Amino acid sequence: MSTSHAVVVGGGIAGLAAARLLARAGVRVTVLEGSPRIGGKLRVSEIAGLPVDEGAESMLARRPEGLDLVAELGRRDDLVHPGTTASAILSRGGLRALPSGQVMGVPSDLRALAASRVLSPAGLARVPLDLVLPETPRGADVSVADYIGARLGREVVDRLVEPLLGGVYAGLVERLSFDATMPAVAAAARSHRSLLNAAQGVREAAPKNPGPVFTTLPGGLGTLPQLVADDIAAAGGTVRTGATVRELRRLPEGWRLTIGPTRDPEHLDADAVVVAVPAAPAARLLKPDVPAAARELEGIEYASMAIVTLAYRATAFPRLPKGSGYLVPAVESAPERGGRGVKAVTFSSVKWPHLRDRDPEIIAVRCSIGRYGEEHALQRTDAELTATAMAELAATCGVAELPAETRVTRWGGGLPQYNVGHADRVARVRSAIAGQPGLAVAGAAYDGLGVPACIASARAAATRVLDHLRSREGADHDAAGGQAQGTRSQ
Ligand SMILES: Cc1cc2nc3c(=O)[nH]c(=O)nc-3n(C[C@H](O)[C@H](O)[C@H](O)COP(=O)(O)OP(=O)(O)OC[C@H]3O[C@@H](n4cnc5c(N)ncnc54)[C@H](O)[C@@H]3O)c2cc1C
Repeated sequence: MSTSHAVVVGGGIAGLAAARLLARAGVRVTVLEGSPRIGGKLRVSEIAGLPVDEGAESMLARRPEGLDLVAELGRRDDLVHPGTTASAILSRGGLRALPSGQVMGVPSDLRALAASRVLSPAGLARVPLDLVLPETPRGADVSVADYIGARLGREVVDRLVEPLLGGVYAGLVERLSFDATMPAVAAAARSHRSLLNAAQGVREAAPKNPGPVFTTLPGGLGTLPQLVADDIAAAGGTVRTGATVRELRRLPEGWRLTIGPTRDPEHLDADAVVVAVPAAPAARLLKPDVPAAARELEGIEYASMAIVTLAYRATAFPRLPKGSGYLVPAVESAPERGGRGVKAVTFSSVKWPHLRDRDPEIIAVRCSIGRYGEEHALQRTDAELTATAMAELAATCGVAELPAETRVTRWGGGLPQYNVGHADRVARVRSAIAGQPGLAVAGAAYDGLGVPACIASARAAATRVLDHLRSREGADHDAAGGQAQGTRSQ
């Protein structure tokens, strides 16, 4: 396969993971990353001497793809796990422990739900109606708010499901797809009239001693991209940064990519291409030759957010936080509703003991700001966003001191929105791509935006490309054999 050349557009985790598989299979690979650095949403830098992620900070350890990648890189033993996963919800004037038994905010244990005091007495009283209500029609797909609200009442949506989903998508529950954002619960709800029973079924089907839920690397998850890039280089591949792909065109045999400024363009030809960039740039690249895929990709919206990281001296906290952090429902946090604007707080030094061990005198805290449709909340200076985060910690944890160091990371258009109809939309993209030999797509826009899901999409894309290259080389080989035979018989 060494004669084939594959280009991967995008040096985020999806592009890098796809490129690594192709390089390891003997394909000549070039990764083209537009920005000056690889990694996309995976990025880490030091704050007060601690390596704290600026983007994704942990991987789900209940899916194999992330763990497998780290193992294949020879770093399995480096992985670290949270010291605690206990987290809370800021609801009705106080921090309340997340009720046990919930699945993405959908309760399965009414007693635990009552004990958590996340819901008002009226909200709590509404929940068991689910057990007697007739079936809720849902058609092909339905929004999270419509389905869960109809079964369990609006308070469950606003005070449990929205903050939990908000931590992943920063999206609007009125628009997010029940099927695409909560696939396990949504599938179970097709065979249970009651959503409480469906959530219970999901809990019972889960492995009993599954081990830690999350994992990361001690230097931050942001160190993963470089490990993958090093492995690509070791297998003979090339990773270029500052190489924005402006155009992708189909050739009679393969593809041509155009890089660089319009006045001085550079062309690169490839036998196969993996497009591993967010939906908007993917749509621009696919528009000329795969317009049907481009049209669908243009319909995927993105939410913007910012992460404000604060490094406090441990003495700044009257009492050290016990849990890994807390979520703030939109009904509590939206500035227009008088809220403070922060949607989630992670006590990084509590969640990750390796950070605390490294410097017990520093408590690093990450505050997320911004949801879909709340772009105005981000149209503020770094100093204003930092002040918002500090006010949140002062109000909730009684922190009175100034932080030793602060950092603001903005993720404009960082999170794809899996709105109602997302799965069908992705199926239409894939069917349009299916007719294009040697072309594949990967990344957060498709079948899951968590890091393991992105790696899974990269594996699928690499497999598609390898199948194409193998069948083409097989055909070339047959043709060459036929020609040689023809020559001999002359
Ligand atoms: C703040 C934040 C926190 C998160 N936390 C977690 C978490 O804790 N756990 C988790 O599992 N997931 C988390 N996620 C989600 C996860 O990090 C992302 O979904 C995932 O990293 C996306 O990877 P990707 O390769 O698909 O895309 P990206 O990381 O977006 O990479 C795409 C790359 O393509 C490049 N590019 C774009 N256009 C072009 C072009 N025309 N030519 C060349 N290059 C181009 C971009 O510069 C970028 O580097 C988080 C996301 C954010 C924003």
